[in-house]
Amino acid sequence: MDPAQSPRRLLLVLGDQLNADSSLFDDCDPEQDLVWLCEAPLEATHVPSHKARTVLFLSGMRHLRERLLTAGLRVRYLALDAHDHPSIGAALAADLAALAPRQVRVVQPGEYRMQRALQQACAEAGVALRVLEDRHFLCPLPDFDAWAKGRKELRLEHFYRWMRKRHDLLMHDGEPAGGAWNFDKDNRKTFGKRGPGLLPAPLGFAPDAITREVMALVETRFPNAPGGLAHFDWPLTPAQAQAALADFISHRLAAFGPYQDAIWTGEPYLYHARLSAALNLKLLDPRRAIDAAVAAYHAGQAPIASVEGFVRQILGWREYVRGIYWRQMPGYLDVNALHAHAPLPAFYWSADTDYACLADALGQVVARGYGHHIQRLMVTGLFALLLGVEPRQVHAWYLAMFVDAVEWVEAPNTLGMSQFADDGLLASKPYAASGAYIQRMSNCCRRCRYDPKQAVGDTACPFTTLFWDFLARHRARFAQHPRTALMWRNLDRLDPERLAAIRAQASTLRTSLAAA
Ligand code: FAD
Ligand code: SF4
Repeated sequence: MDPAQSPRRLLLVLGDQLNADSSLFDDCDPEQDLVWLCEAPLEATHVPSHKARTVLFLSGMRHLRERLLTAGLRVRYLALDAHDHPSIGAALAADLAALAPRQVRVVQPGEYRMQRALQQACAEAGVALRVLEDRHFLCPLPDFDAWAKGRKELRLEHFYRWMRKRHDLLMHDGEPAGGAWNFDKDNRKTFGKRGPGLLPAPLGFAPDAITREVMALVETRFPNAPGGLAHFDWPLTPAQAQAALADFISHRLAAFGPYQDAIWTGEPYLYHARLSAALNLKLLDPRRAIDAAVAAYHAGQAPIASVEGFVRQILGWREYVRGIYWRQMPGYLDVNALHAHAPLPAFYWSADTDYACLADALGQVVARGYGHHIQRLMVTGLFALLLGVEPRQVHAWYLAMFVDAVEWVEAPNTLGMSQFADDGLLASKPYAASGAYIQRMSNCCRRCRYDPKQAVGDTACPFTTLFWDFLARHRARFAQHPRTALMWRNLDRLDPERLAAIRAQASTLRTSLAAA
């Protein structure tokens, strides 16, 4: 293509769209089309993004640039230190004026905010924008809408069964493999007093020259960003993502199901897949992950409880939350059904707390940008729920601090599942629990100066204090609800004087955390 000639199409690739087999490239003509990528400071600052998260996205993009160039495509790559546009929208606006393409194409972005910015830049420049369906996913958005249409409730369980049948996965003659749709009762094991023993260390990837360069850039450009890079070893290419999948299937899948809900101090990964970042950046196709797990089941290498549990997360939850996100945006980020207005405790950014379970879960997030699901839901998320933190602040923290955070998946998990801020659209009841839950599922309480059984006094566990206070605060909303009534009946058994003392302690706690 003559450099002076305007491109036929500008093919926009965003940082979480690193699959070179995406529909964006379907009828790409290197003679006429220009692939366009931009590293923009706003993406690392609109929430104060963890350094590892920023490195992951930028290095992933730079690795993709290499693959595209090798494939013979023409690429315009705006590196962070080579331009001074604050945002992707601003950089695009400047390039639309300079390059005058006839059309801009992009695969459906992972954030409503980004989609709006691209629409606005193209509309202002008078250039047509074509948003393509993202075929990385197994449920196209129109299909999700068709499934949701006319339903009173959009429950994961119904969606998941529909997807299992639709894709004929783990089905035998129309019935679920293993004779049941879920094996939750087998999947709540704890490690007992002796702990998990020697765990298979997940495969990590030492930073290569591209990544090391990005790390130095991120340290220079965003020195005050949260988190550290010392442990950075995430997959950044499709080959590495595939190797990470194979490692999980061989060494951790079999025990994934039973220990899905367990927590152990100092063990960040346990039997979890550690694949979410690779999946969300589209370095790994979810079909490959599902097929590999199903093949392990058929080969007798992993039990149905583990394989079904894993398939449910990817075929079910991952697709479901995406459908919910796009149906509910743009209003979803403002939901606050429980009228929660407390500030997020400052220790969420530093892990500087003497609550042992939070120190462990947060320490891991600060160091690695990762926490496994039950830490996210039943430690960091639970504490924010019980404390009554404003959901928007909780959302900003989760979006900022996890390497796998992209809004379509983060927001429904945070606002819906964890904070019940969407009034039960996603979860049928709030995930509220006292310190006793954490004591049962982990070894954290053994190392803590607080006592999960105490709700009042110097050694009272904050989860336990805030749990009773949460029940009392939300009695009117939940006490009659069939799925939650039991929890609230326990509240009614509490001596009123004791409840008053608990609530006074909760109030003091809230004040001291807000001031910290
Ligand atoms: P595993 O536990 O091994 O699960 C396997 C895969 O299943 C994951 O890689 C992921 O792709 C998928 N998966 C599992 N649970 C979910 C779920 N609830 N929703 C969607 N996909 C799921 N996941 C993200 O990918 N990005 C996020 O920003 C994110 N934010 C979350 C915030 C909160 C408050 C909560 C409670 C959960 C969040 N999750 C998020 C879901 C889940 O916790 C992570 O996907 C998981 O912990 C990633 O680690 P893993 O790859 O080791 O997953
Ligand atoms: Fe967490 Fe409470 Fe247990 Fe301490 S006692 S580890 S704060 S649940």
